[in-house]
Amino acid sequence: MQNDTIAAIATPQGVGGVGIIRVSGSDAFSLVAPLLRRPSREDIPPVPPTHQLTYRVIIDPATQEILDEVLVAFMRAPHTYTCEDVVEIQGHGGPLILRRILRSVLAQGARMANPGEFTLRAFLNGRLDLAQAEAVMDLIGSQTEVGQRLAMQQLRGKLSDQVEHARTSMLGAIARIEASIDFPEDDIPTPQAEELLPFIEEAQRQIARLLAGSEQGRLYRQGLRTAIIGRPNVGKSSLLNALLRIERAIVTPIAGTTRDTVEEIANLRGIPLHLIDTAGITPTQDPVEQLGVQRSRLAAETADVILHVFDGATALTEQDWQVAQELRAMGYGEKREGQAARRPVVVVINKADCEQVIDVAAIQSFWQDASLVQTSTLTGEGLEALENTLAELVQAGNVSGNESVLITSARHQEALRRGAEHLNAAILSLGQKVPLDFVSIDLRAAYDALGEVTGETASEDLLDRIFSEFCIGK
Ligand code: GDP
Repeated sequence: MQNDTIAAIATPQGVGGVGIIRVSGSDAFSLVAPLLRRPSREDIPPVPPTHQLTYRVIIDPATQEILDEVLVAFMRAPHTYTCEDVVEIQGHGGPLILRRILRSVLAQGARMANPGEFTLRAFLNGRLDLAQAEAVMDLIGSQTEVGQRLAMQQLRGKLSDQVEHARTSMLGAIARIEASIDFPEDDIPTPQAEELLPFIEEAQRQIARLLAGSEQGRLYRQGLRTAIIGRPNVGKSSLLNALLRIERAIVTPIAGTTRDTVEEIANLRGIPLHLIDTAGITPTQDPVEQLGVQRSRLAAETADVILHVFDGATALTEQDWQVAQELRAMGYGEKREGQAARRPVVVVINKADCEQVIDVAAIQSFWQDASLVQTSTLTGEGLEALENTLAELVQAGNVSGNESVLITSARHQEALRRGAEHLNAAILSLGQKVPLDFVSIDLRAAYDALGEVTGETASEDLLDRIFSEFCIGK
């Protein structure tokens, strides 16, 4: 499968200054070269020197019609993105032009690339390991500068290095055990627990260090889903806008949101804050409103944090309590012995610029564990306090310097946890003087679990799953 030549448009759909078609595989040069002409001549020019941008026109091979003026780079393996021969054709950035150029390349015998297939090839050819390949996607999708920095570190191989360190430590113990089992005639003494333990414990420490920041790391990548809930007219939409405005960072609207729930991304000290403004979650008879309520309820149910907004300038209403009850029924603000609420609620008492008539004590006695912030979307009062409260909830802003490596992926976290469990089992077995081959089974399992992070021991299913999430042309 790996030897065929693939092609795809590598730039986004839509209109742009330039658009790029990428071709990779052993026939990339010979497929593309016949499509090119010098602007002033009809003959097929020789392939230009490798990695050099060259001005050409490109033709439709069926009709000889000139499709576009292009800059083309022929890049000889192995110093390319995929480690294969690659040709990149830069045309004008119109969707029709690019599709026609691509069609010409396909007509020459290239195959349309699958999502992520260029990066898959870079992985299969050993240029990137799996964690690095995943970092490519994270980098493209990063929503804050911190997220981008973490992805870049992973792409540079910092995570892989640390995972490999832990594996090397394990290998120290594995090699000693296996040598004594495999070559008993060589008089290799059976290693003692004291000899093996330092290797295993070192690996354990390395994994623990990586796992320590992983919840945090995932937040930087996935963001915090924050639903803004409250009865109509308390100022939910105004609050959404205010929170977006105090952030001078990138704010991107999310496609596909409905009129009933609006989702925007603000930047909370590097964590993408997915703010969801909901229509309302109180029961209604109106069928149109019912739909909105359904969507809002779903948003509320899947949120990490709820901002329950009240209007400080009016007395509490039946509807305020209904909203509170609904949230409580979903498990928000539930107290747990000695711990923070699993699904925290932040009470926002809005319209602080007006005379306050709301019964704050009544709210506090209902939402006992919730932080309470008074805001005015009109004057901006309390918005920073609200931001601080959210940041404290998730301990945002703790990513220090450029040196920290944070696990940002659930997949990596899970593999490391599995590795740590096997190491614990190995240590337990050593203590119980279980035969060493059993210890070695657990050590191997831990070694393989960590190998899934870098892809050394990843199954084909896993690879398919990961790369299918990429975009076409990457
Ligand atoms: P929603 O229905 O909860 O989304 O509420 P809106 O954001 O649409 O606001 C309802 C009304 O309250 C609008 O007329 C806003 O201008 C007003 N409002 C929102 N926030 C404040 C505030 O902090 N102070 C005052 N005085 N009015 C506000």
